[in-house]
This record gives sequence, C-alpha cells and structure tokens, in this order.
Amino acid sequence: MKKIISFLIVLIFFFSCAVHTKGVDDALVKENRDAVSGLKNNTNNIVIDSNMVRKHLYTLAADNMEGRQSGTPGIEKAAVYIENEFKKIGLSTFGDLESYRQTFTFKNRKSKEDIISSNIIGVLEGKSKKDEYVIISAHYDHLGMKKSGEGDLIYNGANDDASGVTGVLALAAYFKKVGHERTIVFAAFTAEEMGLIGSTYFGKEIDAAKFVAGINLEMIGKTPSFGPNTAWLTGFERSDFGKIIQKNLEGSGYQLFPDPYKNFNLFFRSDNASLARLGVPSHTFSTTPIDIDPDYHQVSDEAETLNITVITQTIQAVAIGTESIINGEDTPTRVVLEDKK
Ligand SMILES: [Zn+2]
Repeated sequence: MKKIISFLIVLIFFFSCAVHTKGVDDALVKENRDAVSGLKNNTNNIVIDSNMVRKHLYTLAADNMEGRQSGTPGIEKAAVYIENEFKKIGLSTFGDLESYRQTFTFKNRKSKEDIISSNIIGVLEGKSKKDEYVIISAHYDHLGMKKSGEGDLIYNGANDDASGVTGVLALAAYFKKVGHERTIVFAAFTAEEMGLIGSTYFGKEIDAAKFVAGINLEMIGKTPSFGPNTAWLTGFERSDFGKIIQKNLEGSGYQLFPDPYKNFNLFFRSDNASLARLGVPSHTFSTTPIDIDPDYHQVSDEAETLNITVITQTIQAVAIGTESIINGEDTPTRVVLEDKK
C-alpha cells in the first residue's frame, strides 16, 4: 500500500512538472477546442465568449468614439479603453516603452498636417522561448466623421477594425490564462487607414529576426463566402503559416482558406504587410466577402451589421490554429514577397 502511494506521489509529481514545463493549462485549451467544435451545438465557451466579444465590439464601435480617426479625441477614447483592458489582463510593456503607448508624430499625406498618435502595445513574456516573438495585431483607427451632410456622419468601423481589436483583447486574456512558451506582443496599431503608418513605425523599432510570426485580424465580423465556421488568410502561399493553422484546426469544425480575392491585393493592404516586408511570416485573417460588402468604408459599418457568433468562433479558431506557433512547436517559413512568375 505504502509503495503504491509513494509511486503515485512520484507519478503525480512528474505529471505536474510536465504540465508546468509545457506552461499551458491543458484543461482550458481543451475547453476552447471543444467550444469551437461545440459552438455548432451552441455550447458556450467560458474562455473566449460572445459576451466579452459583444462588450469590446460595441464599446469600440460606439458613436462617442467618433470614427476613431488618428489625431482626434475620438481615437483617444479607444486608446484609453484598450490600455485599461491590457492593464486588467495584466500585460507588461514592450521593450523600452514606459507605458503601453508607442507615441510618434507623422505627416498626414492628404492634409499635410502633423499628427501625434500612438500604437497601443502590451506583452506576455514567454516562458521557455522569451526571445522569440509572435505578434497579434489589429488596427484601432478608422475614418473618423463626414465633415458635413445629413443623417449618419460617423464611420463607426465596427467590422473595420473594431472586430479585429476585439480579437486582440480576447486573445490576450486567453493566452494569459492558458500559457505560452514564446513571447506574445499584442498591438493595436494607429493610422492604418492613412497608409499602414502605425505598423510601419513599429517595424522600424524592432529586430524583425526575433519575430517568428505575425497574426493580424481584419474585418472578422461577417460570414465568408465559404460559409459559416471559415475564414481566409492573405498571402497564404507566401509562407507555410496557413498550412500550420490548417493542421491545428483539423477536427475542430473550423476551416481556413487562402484569400479568394487575389485582385484586391489584400496581403499588402493591412498591417501584416509592414512586418512581412521585413521577412516576418505575417498574415491577415479575415471573414468578410469584401467584393460584395455594402458597408466597407461606409458610415453603415455598425456593430449591428455584424455576426457576434462569427467573431467569437473566429477568435477561438485563431487561438487553436496558432497554438503550436505560440508554444514553439511550429515555426513558419519566412515570408516570400515576390510573386511566382
Ligand atoms: Zn481595416
């Protein structure tokens, strides 16, 4: 009896060591995995759930944010909201920055005026691979307000890209809970709509060789042309990042496809491009049928036009799909920029 007990103690000790070394709460990962496949049966996920998604989305896309144009009081409200969420989650600051803000001045290409704005950046330092970075990003700026006219004047940018920022916040909370071997940088970029300016500035300040992958979320609020429980990835053929995600999603009930809108050149039109140009396998996830979307860059891009279930399931799928990269088991190939002739 005694022998059996001490054997059991040794066994338990080894098991708990193994779990700690891996740094991942397997129960939570399993719960999330079950939830993605289970959401077809409306099982609620307590880790990344629709209530949290709804709260972030409706807050960031609210009229009082005035369309979140870089350099306006409206975007400042969004910045404060993101900072407070980062603080609640318990993220640390990035590099030499003393706060979550990476503030810089740039010239607005249209108006030629100087604008001061900030990327909002938080970090979860990795355990066994803290010098290897994965970035999870979305842009929190949008188009602001119409100068004059009747009726709705506010470009709420609910899909573009409050939905993506919602994903960044939800994934930060998730990975804080379940653990991660690599360091994860969570970035809400400014001035994407003015020409990928926030992410370009961020790119200049980093050692790109340390960034093993870039996960950008853009317009994840509408059902894709491929049907429910799917998303598409820009630049799919430019690294094996997408194949890794597909492998991890096998059996989850959620599928990832290559970007079907080749003529739109979307790989170079969102913040993933700023890091991809430095060689980082950095891609954008989206769900929106952009060729027929009536709300793209319109004042009608409101939270009410989005499907909360699509956003929630997509964020859960990104969590599962990127898990082996976050934990250092998979490293995507560096990105190829030239198109194959
Ligand atoms: Zn966008």
